[in-house]
Amino acid sequence: MNPLPNDAWFTEVFDSHASAFSLKVSEKLLDVQSPYQHLEVYATETYGNLMVLDGCVMLTDRDNFLYHEMIAHPALFTHQDPKRVVIIGGGDCGTLKEVLRHPGVEHVTQIDIDEEVTKAAERFFPSLVESNDDPRAELLFADGVKWVDDAPGESIDVLIIDSTDPVGPAEGLFKTDFLKRCHRILKNGGVMVQQSESPLYHSGSIIRELRHDMREAGFNSVATLPFPQPVYPSGWWSVTLAGKETDVNHFREDAAADHDMPLQYYTRDAHRGALVLPPFMRNALA
Ligand code: SAM
Repeated sequence: MNPLPNDAWFTEVFDSHASAFSLKVSEKLLDVQSPYQHLEVYATETYGNLMVLDGCVMLTDRDNFLYHEMIAHPALFTHQDPKRVVIIGGGDCGTLKEVLRHPGVEHVTQIDIDEEVTKAAERFFPSLVESNDDPRAELLFADGVKWVDDAPGESIDVLIIDSTDPVGPAEGLFKTDFLKRCHRILKNGGVMVQQSESPLYHSGSIIRELRHDMREAGFNSVATLPFPQPVYPSGWWSVTLAGKETDVNHFREDAAADHDMPLQYYTRDAHRGALVLPPFMRNALA
């Protein structure tokens, strides 16, 4: 569509940590300014297609399984019997696909503010949207903060916040007030999970504050699970789980070991290992 010179690279600069990540790109496939954000898709030489929002890498074909499996399966195997699941953000539909692998899930509502992200996934990341026709899936395009406000209390088993970084449209998704509202719509025994940035860069700041705010919001237990994510700042990422009248440091280990989902990263042992935080994180989070 729009071939680039032979030596073209896409680079995301992380000013706050004076570092950067680059991929060699061969073509620009899409460049759209939506009402909410600037969306680009590139063809890369070795990572498949790349989605970028406001200059930040969202996902690539090659490594998105790490993020999508780790934001979905730890939460779903922690809940005792997840039936009603809500995803805020997640417009690329990769998380939705992972959630729908769980046969006990009866209904999943995904609320992304920006329909352009889903349209781009349909065109350039077909494997991520392959479960969108599942009759259990409902796709809405609206502000997740408002949707949570309007949802009935104690109506959801698992709430997944699959958002962009805490700036722009996603800023409100990292505020204590929002977490309180999330707590309100979860049933007792409910589990919330939020993508929580880099363990290396953000343990002493965003992750620590999020865990504190989750407790302030009424959640009785929290657990941060780190995992590799080569294309995100520092190459390392995390999700933070919070439980409403349930302990998110324990999960259904037998079910996590005995299923027929074709997963590429998540295993019972990966989940166990992720719950054991490295000492530097324990210190930073204390
Ligand atoms: N870090 C994740 C990844 O790379 O897989 C992010 C994926 S997903 C593309 C993040 C989504 O959050 C975007 O599609 C964006 O439109 C959505 N988003 C941001 N703020 C939102 C809000 N207030 N309500 C609903 N969706 C929101």
